[in-house]
Amino acid sequence: MNSLYLADSYLKECDSTVVSISDSKFVTLDQTVFYPKSGGQANDEGKLRTSDGREVKVIFVGKVEGVVSHQVQPEGVLKDGDNVHCSIDWERRYKLMRMHTAAHLISALMYTDSGVMITGNELQPDQSRMDFDFEKMDAEMMKSFIAKANEKIKQGVPVKTYYLPREEAFKIPGIVKLAHVFPPEEKQLRIVEIEGIDIEADGGTHVNNLSEVGEIVFLKVENKGKGRKRVYYTLK
Ligand SMILES: [Zn+2]
Repeated sequence: MNSLYLADSYLKECDSTVVSISDSKFVTLDQTVFYPKSGGQANDEGKLRTSDGREVKVIFVGKVEGVVSHQVQPEGVLKDGDNVHCSIDWERRYKLMRMHTAAHLISALMYTDSGVMITGNELQPDQSRMDFDFEKMDAEMMKSFIAKANEKIKQGVPVKTYYLPREEAFKIPGIVKLAHVFPPEEKQLRIVEIEGIDIEADGGTHVNNLSEVGEIVFLKVENKGKGRKRVYYTLK
């Protein structure tokens, strides 16, 4: 099972072979461009097409015991061993990439300024949210962080993805800011770096340059209890 999105977030299509189908609708492939719902980032959607013209929609993608599982519709169209052409809904994915890089940028600025950690996040194409372990956070404060983030976006800072040995990665301060989980068997950690701003262990898909994020627009702050403040934002 080769997850091609880890090496190239901009890959929109690939050719794959059906490895297994369970309950007539959960399909695993030898390789995939589909990002499974994980690390707060919503799953990709798209389609699978066989060379003889059979086509199914991919309506959900998740990870089951470490393997990417594609939920397809209609059921019963594909069979084991089928060669399929995979294509993702790029408009949706690209929004999610921009949202995810924006989340790293905002969290990095807040961490650097106040040492605050993120306790949860949900990245969706049209609106995203992040939870911060903050005693006091009001709309004005959040707006000023987002204004700072938009300044960095205008500077067109590069974003890089690479791998580091686990022990080396965990020596970097703030390497884990989001609520991502890294199983102990992962000897190499995937690192997403916004040059000079943020280094984070992360399995998500990101844009190559902050300028692609566009503009972050503050929506609202909600108080979800002690030490838990939730901020909503969108992109322009
Ligand atoms: Zn992330």
